Amino acid sequence: MVGAGPGGLAVARVLHRHGHPVAVLERDSGPAARPPGGTLDLHKGLGQLALAKAGLLPQFRVLSRPEGQAMRILDVDGTVLRDWQPRPDDDANPEIDRGQLRDLLLGPLEVRWGCRVTRVAPDDRGVVVHVAGGRQERFDLVVGADGAWSRVRSALSPVTPHYTGVTTVETALDDIDTRHPDLGRLVGDGAMAVYGVNRALVAQRGSGGHVRVHAQFRAPVDWHADLDPADAEAVRSRLLALFDGWAAPVLDLLRRGDTFTHRPLHVLPVDHTWTHVRGVTLLGDAAHLMPPLGVGANLALLEGAELAEALAADPADPDETVWAFEERMWARAGKWAKITQAGLERLVSSDPAAAIALFDEVQS
Ligand SMILES: Cc1cc2nc3c(=O)[nH]c(=O)nc-3n(C[C@H](O)[C@H](O)[C@H](O)COP(=O)(O)OP(=O)(O)OC[C@H]3O[C@@H](n4cnc5c(N)ncnc54)[C@H](O)[C@@H]3O)c2cc1C
Repeated sequence: MVGAGPGGLAVARVLHRHGHPVAVLERDSGPAARPPGGTLDLHKGLGQLALAKAGLLPQFRVLSRPEGQAMRILDVDGTVLRDWQPRPDDDANPEIDRGQLRDLLLGPLEVRWGCRVTRVAPDDRGVVVHVAGGRQERFDLVVGADGAWSRVRSALSPVTPHYTGVTTVETALDDIDTRHPDLGRLVGDGAMAVYGVNRALVAQRGSGGHVRVHAQFRAPVDWHADLDPADAEAVRSRLLALFDGWAAPVLDLLRRGDTFTHRPLHVLPVDHTWTHVRGVTLLGDAAHLMPPLGVGANLALLEGAELAEALAADPADPDETVWAFEERMWARAGKWAKITQAGLERLVSSDPAAAIALFDEVQS
């Protein structure tokens, strides 16, 4: 297994449950090597199903935040246009912090931290995995769950991600209810979004009053070439100019953030597949990177859990199992890739009404 993200850990945890140990090679030096990221909503038929296969659904129910399903849409002048609140028993898409999900999946697993795979080379006797520093190791089956910029992918496909034309700049507010109670009320229990012309601002609450704010806009990939990314003041004033005229409380979400992270949104083609190669496969973002519209981690988890279950059920012929898995993954992921890429076009578009109409469709 290459990568200890949601996909890789799901494979390892489900195989572990069925009594099959697996090597997980992860480039991070440890679970706390970098901030784990924001919050994820896990859908009942996708991510939650994967956790059920791992035997982790009861623990997920304890950790997750059903109230995080709340969603509010504001106009650029601050008028509340929509305010959806989950029903008390609504468990369709509860939120969980990425760090909590990672720790839940890690549990008893042993990960080889600080193991950066540089390439994999299938041959007649299996697959050779090359690790930074010059080490090599041979495996029967290598699963590339190493995310958007996968190093395993080139063994199967020449395709690399391309820029969507939409960039996100992310900032965060800690302890919002104490330090910024006005913004805490603005964001509510879940997410708050504002859609303007070719711009969007989305704020999402994690646990412990941590809120992540995403400013999204259409721009060339090098829009910040003349900015020092570490110069928070310079990035902030560029963002405030881009969102000029929006309501003051909405812009306060950007004014009060300390640091800004630039995330250009890249995707793989919606129909990305490859000719099957014995001993190597991909899943999650490595196989089907799509816009971050609430599905990528769910798919990675379910694919990981399904592949592991199938391998555990029929260890005699893993190649046949992987082949069938790939066909199933391509069909499902292709459908979601189309939905999310079309969704991004509507959410960051010249017609803000298209974004609201999309939410009306999803909520109904
Ligand atoms: C802002 C944002 C919000 C999102 N919100 C949601 C959401 O609410 N719901 C949802 O379902 N999805 C969401 N997504 C998408 C989701 O984060 C990804 O689809 C998901 O993390 C993919 O999981 P993965 O395991 O395939 O890859 P990753 O999570 O990228 O994990 C890959 C792992 O591989 C490791 N790795 C990389 N290269 C190497 C290497 N060469 N050698 C060894 N290890 C390596 C990495 O360090 C990492 O640990 C969001 C994405 C973003 C950017």
